[in-house]
Amino acid sequence: MNQRNNHRLVLFPLPFQGHINPMLQLGRILYARGFSITILHTDFNAPNPSSHPHFAFRSIADGLNQPQASAADIPGLMSLLNARCASPFEESLREIVMSLQGGEAAPVAGLISDAMFNFTCGVAERLKVRALVLRTGGAASLYVYSIYPIFKEKGYVPVYGSRSQEAVKEFPPLLVGDIPAEDPKKPEAIFRILDDMVKTINNSGGVILNTFEELDHQNLVSLQEVFAVPFFPIGPSHKRCGASSSSSLLAEDRSCISWLDEQPPRSVIYVSFGSIAAVSETETLEISLGLACSEQPFLWVVRPGSAHDPEWLEKSPSRFLEALKGRGKMVKWAPQTEVLAHPAVGAFWTHSGWNSTLESISEGVPMLCMPCFADQGVNARYVSDVWRVGLHLNGGLERENIARAIKRLLVEREGEEMRERTLVLKEKASACLRQGGSSYQALDALVNHILSST
Ligand code: UDP
Repeated sequence: MNQRNNHRLVLFPLPFQGHINPMLQLGRILYARGFSITILHTDFNAPNPSSHPHFAFRSIADGLNQPQASAADIPGLMSLLNARCASPFEESLREIVMSLQGGEAAPVAGLISDAMFNFTCGVAERLKVRALVLRTGGAASLYVYSIYPIFKEKGYVPVYGSRSQEAVKEFPPLLVGDIPAEDPKKPEAIFRILDDMVKTINNSGGVILNTFEELDHQNLVSLQEVFAVPFFPIGPSHKRCGASSSSSLLAEDRSCISWLDEQPPRSVIYVSFGSIAAVSETETLEISLGLACSEQPFLWVVRPGSAHDPEWLEKSPSRFLEALKGRGKMVKWAPQTEVLAHPAVGAFWTHSGWNSTLESISEGVPMLCMPCFADQGVNARYVSDVWRVGLHLNGGLERENIARAIKRLLVEREGEEMRERTLVLKEKASACLRQGGSSYQALDALVNHILSST
């Protein structure tokens, strides 16, 4: 399995946790198929080489200073990364290509960059390297992005609230509010980022998606109608890599696993809003009281900086503090895929990031969806209305409402039915990776596609 095929792939992840994880998983998958792997990465949010001893790592100077590297303005940060990284990236890739040419080491067979870097395909073309992209989101949201100009034309965007519950006739069951909104202060920023991504995909030699046919068939068909390049749905990637494949930028607090060992089966609500979303003071209070009122055991990830008020815990009402002591656990960062696979976890309250959604589906865990931005609204709508494996937190982030939703998922028949449907998807997620399965075949096709150009 680990026989080298004498070809090197250079992988270039966008430096956010939700993009780093699937890119490094892809590296592991392709390493197992014989490729040597070089990870080219920014200084900002650099991955830890010691977690991936088989890869070569090389950093490029992004020149970002601390305030610029803030996650508070993601579109701004993305534009900055695209502007700052283009020339150091070209320099590094050129050096890698030249240094490997004609020598003993495996020559570069291709570049795989995040689809949100808009300059990589142009650089690869100049250096005569085949460029593929990894799109780390789901198929539905990518399709939505590809027809975003139509949504603009129809007046669905920009929408700042008033029409958010209206149905999108062209794309049921989406509601207008599910479409990624534009920032009223910089109305064109999101559009430009999405437009650049669509152009990058069109200029690439193929798109790798972390999803699987059985989950996303219709959207994969639609994507193939919109884009002329081949798609390779090879997911769920993390299920091919095993628990030792963590690429976490924060230290994982493993004490939550022994805490879960003490809880009854399927009783715990796991709460995590990913690596970027943050909550206000009022929202933190409602979440904590909602968890207290639910009367269920809870495991809550509160990332440093994710609650706007750093002293919120000291100010928390006694009802929450008692619930935390009696049947709760808080950590700063969890080994999430292991948590979701734990038999004590009954439901996942999530911000509906794509990785979290796919990880939950892969373990048969139904979701309570609280989308915050970007593709999360589309992911959440698919969870609730298409796959029917979760609920929206309708009615707002308010304690009684939260407690009610948690009980619906964990205690009531409705939640049981959702779990049954999620378990069917879990089995499909597992079957597609086995020999002859859809993702297995897509990976074979990807490897052949890469090797065909060498
Ligand atoms: N994650 C984790 N521990 C946590 C919270 C999140 O390992 O405590 C991982 C999670 O498994 C997922 C990624 O961080 O792979 C978050 O990606 P996602 O697309 O869900 O959301 P984003 O952070 O990009 O908003």
